[in-house]
Amino acid sequence: SDDGVPGRVRVAVRLRPRNQEELAADADFAEYVELQPELKRLKLRKNNWDADTYEFDDVLTEFASQKRVYEAVAKPVVESVLDGYNGTVMAYGQTGTGKTFTLGHLGDGDTSSRGIMVRAMEDILAEISLETDSVSVSYLQLYMEAVQDLLVPANDNISIVEDPKTGEAHRIAANTKLNTESSRSHAILMVQVKRSFTGQEDALSSEIDNSSHLVKPSKPIVRKSKLVLVDLAGSERVHKSGSEGHMLEEAKSINLSLSSLGKCINALAENSSHVPIRDSKLTRLLKDSFGGSARTSLIVTIGPSPRHRGETSSTILFGQRAM
Ligand code: ADP
Ligand code: MG
Repeated sequence: SDDGVPGRVRVAVRLRPRNQEELAADADFAEYVELQPELKRLKLRKNNWDADTYEFDDVLTEFASQKRVYEAVAKPVVESVLDGYNGTVMAYGQTGTGKTFTLGHLGDGDTSSRGIMVRAMEDILAEISLETDSVSVSYLQLYMEAVQDLLVPANDNISIVEDPKTGEAHRIAANTKLNTESSRSHAILMVQVKRSFTGQEDALSSEIDNSSHLVKPSKPIVRKSKLVLVDLAGSERVHKSGSEGHMLEEAKSINLSLSSLGKCINALAENSSHVPIRDSKLTRLLKDSFGGSARTSLIVTIGPSPRHRGETSSTILFGQRAM
């Protein structure tokens, strides 16, 4: 695969471990999805004798640790943000498959279970210099095409001392038939990084330029970049949630934003010069993620229950089209 090539989206799939209910239903629990992590393959069983096979950049089994997931999916993106490029990590999948666990889990009392947001902040804060660099964070919720700041509703940019947990508590979760904790909004953590590189450091980092042997004392070069971590709203189709009225409008808005996101990602994958960012608020907010030098990583999350075969299949196709 084309590791590190800007514009190309890296796509990983992650399978959630069985929950209590799924473990209890053991008897009629047919394995409908088979992961082959070494081969980076996923097999989706159609029946007893036939399966579809898909390849991903990473195949993360139910045993994959949060650390492993971070290292596979997010760390290279965080490193490129520290080098001055924009980077994005998104989680896409049906409600209940582990998007928030993967991205936003805080891991109180169990640091090993912390998700990508906390690990990314930790890596960024460990790397930057507090004297010459700066970091600002905003945590946005996009609900029915309206943006809300989850940390301080009146502000756009807030200092990093704010606890992301505050934001999590503000998220709108509607009670659908599918899942009582169903997330009907997109949660977007934006981390702006501004770094100053002195003339000398810059000369070292541009060694390829053999024409200038002299290290000229110069003004520091300031590089700005942005890390965007996106916990997308559940991708399940409207009819499954049994939605009506307001809920239906909500679902339509989610469908619109996810399908327009899909179109933008596909445009990236196809190296198209036209990325249709104007079609939804979500893609307008993520416009810097679709630029030429941006790094983007998508993690699609799936559940182990054969009841969700249909949703799993469309989640997998969303991931495949992004590659
Ligand atoms: P989503 O955000 O996609 O709706 P969640 O992240 O809320 O899904 O996950 C649903 C439930 O499954 C939560 O209780 C979560 O803690 C649990 N869960 C998800 N992924 C894992 C995992 N890899 N290991 C352990 N528990 C998980
Ligand atoms: Mg969630």
